[in-house]
Amino acid sequence: MADDLKRASRSGLGGVKVSFEFFPPKTAEMDAQLWEAITRLAPLRPKFISITYGAGGSTRERTHATVARIVKETMIRPAAHLTCVAASRAEVDAVIRGYWNAGVRHIVALRGDPAGGLGSTFEPHPEGYATSTDLVAGIRRVADFDITVSAYPEKHPESATIDADIDVLKAKIDAGANRAITQFFFDNAHYFRFIDRARARGVTIPIIPGIVPVQNFRQTSSFAAKTGASIPAWLARRFEGLDDDPATRRLIAAAVAAEQVIDLVDHGVTDLHFYTMNKADLVFAICHLLGVRAPVGEGVAS
Ligand code: FAD
Repeated sequence: MADDLKRASRSGLGGVKVSFEFFPPKTAEMDAQLWEAITRLAPLRPKFISITYGAGGSTRERTHATVARIVKETMIRPAAHLTCVAASRAEVDAVIRGYWNAGVRHIVALRGDPAGGLGSTFEPHPEGYATSTDLVAGIRRVADFDITVSAYPEKHPESATIDADIDVLKAKIDAGANRAITQFFFDNAHYFRFIDRARARGVTIPIIPGIVPVQNFRQTSSFAAKTGASIPAWLARRFEGLDDDPATRRLIAAAVAAEQVIDLVDHGVTDLHFYTMNKADLVFAICHLLGVRAPVGEGVAS
């Protein structure tokens, strides 16, 4: 068989499907940037686009307004993130009902980070949902949503072991979750090992790899340190000496992300979730590389 048919990333037979994550904008300028990114990526027909929920519910209104606008103005299915930090069950249930009434049918359900910041202990609201599992069950009680949850290939920072995290994932599935998206990672071996362990423990739902194109290496490294994602030495070396050279950094970022997603697709991965940071270009290019394109005749925003 010719080499280009043996590799899914080259044959175009991988049938790659994508989803994109955005955060809700704070200012009019950020709003314009977000919609520019959505407009550029929408023709690629993502399975869904998801909108994050700020720490402690700080973006409650903005997340709602953004998903409601996506429902009204686009053909894409939005997924609204939701956490249970610093809110009673009644307040969280009101947000869930608000999403449903706005036409949203998909929630990404998360516990959220401790109100005291990463590294402190998570204290549930006295009348709130105590865990992400409780939240998933709560969402199921309100309406028949599609529910996505998180998974951590390198384990959640508060977790003792990866197997403990897989037990939590199983509990979330038993409560009603139908898919997981992973925390980002750079070494695909972490993802493959996690999938093997989760499947061996009876997890059958899709576990979609979360891909973060490195728009800014310093920012990504500091975020990775907080979330428990490791930065391999080879990755740091690739960005070494480029602090004052954004143009080369962008090219390296594209090469790094391309290498990662091509390897995933060649290993049989068909769904990819991109953390876009509300910027389209890099993600658009990676999708193009994988054969994820706008249907002919639909044109692409310039
Ligand atoms: P969980 O699966 O709830 O796990 C959290 C920790 O609690 C783990 O250590 C787990 O082992 C432990 N645990 C859970 N249940 C139990 C139990 N019953 N007994 C003992 N231990 C338990 N944060 C935001 O604020 N807004 C967002 O929009 C957002 N989106 C995200 C999207 C994705 C795809 C991912 C991967 C993360 C996102 N986060 C977001 C970050 C997330 O809120 C934090 O990582 C948070 O610390 C954990 O919440 P969780 O639901 O991901 O984890």
